[in-house]
Amino acid sequence: MTPTLAGVLGWPVAHSRSPAMHNAAFRALGLDWRYVKLPVSPELFAETVRALPGSGYGGVNVTIPHKQAALRLADVASPAAAAIGAANTLSFDTGSITADNTDAPGFLAALGRSPRGERALVLGAGGSGRAMAWALRDAGAAEVMVWNRTPGRAARLAAELGVSHVERPSAADLVVNATSVGLGSRWSEDDALAALGLNGREAPATLVDLVYAERETALCRWAREASAQVVDGLEVLVRQGALSFERWTGRPAPLEVMRAAARAGVA
Ligand code: NAP
Repeated sequence: MTPTLAGVLGWPVAHSRSPAMHNAAFRALGLDWRYVKLPVSPELFAETVRALPGSGYGGVNVTIPHKQAALRLADVASPAAAAIGAANTLSFDTGSITADNTDAPGFLAALGRSPRGERALVLGAGGSGRAMAWALRDAGAAEVMVWNRTPGRAARLAAELGVSHVERPSAADLVVNATSVGLGSRWSEDDALAALGLNGREAPATLVDLVYAERETALCRWAREASAQVVDGLEVLVRQGALSFERWTGRPAPLEVMRAAARAGVA
């Protein structure tokens, strides 16, 4: 069966902007594909994924809380997915299930330059904190520090990936927010900075905020007002999505089309 379907598995997944972004890309390239939301509970994740290759799916994205389960059930994993311990992209084109992690290279593409030689601080030690720390270390950052609200998680992550962990956020050239601080409308700038231990600190030269919301996040505003380079969560979303798109279709992703669709809102 020639694949004509892709989608995103999550629980919940209603908020995802990926369908709007990928469907716009398929239309722009004249591909008769559809990208759908697949709300799937953890109990049904494995059997659902195994049914997809025979149902017209070329591949899927995977989001919270399935990224580790996706890696576990894959037949083959890319070196990045294996090292990070999580996959956000599954492909079915080879007759087996291949796991990739496009969050890490997508983040570097969104950054737009190499972080080689820079001191980097990753806030958060969840799934995406792990991907960010791995990407920065792999791309040659001079130092990669991880801070987390629950310090033991940062210590474990640091030991596993060969980076360092800090009890309090230290000064850095590049700061990546990989926590969920800023998600939703309840975050004032003061609250967000306090939750991340950044109150009273100078903004870094570069801030990447993985969180995206209807409006600019408090953290992005703080950094922008201090003239930092700011990369927002939608740009990271677009770049990881573009890499998944290319993996499934073999075609260059229409970045501008995807960016416009992601910024226009939920499908
Ligand atoms: P996760 O595995 O659930 O980790 C959540 C992280 O946020 C943990 O480090 C947690 O710390 C921290 N946290 C939660 N509430 C906090 C608070 N009030 N104060 C301080 N820290 C807090 O989630 P994830 O998959 O890593 O995702 C993290 C964020 O990145 C989410 O908002 C997600 O939407 C976003 N994201 C965006 C993209 C993109 O393409 N733009 C891609 C991936 C993820 P504890 O360990 O102490 O609980």
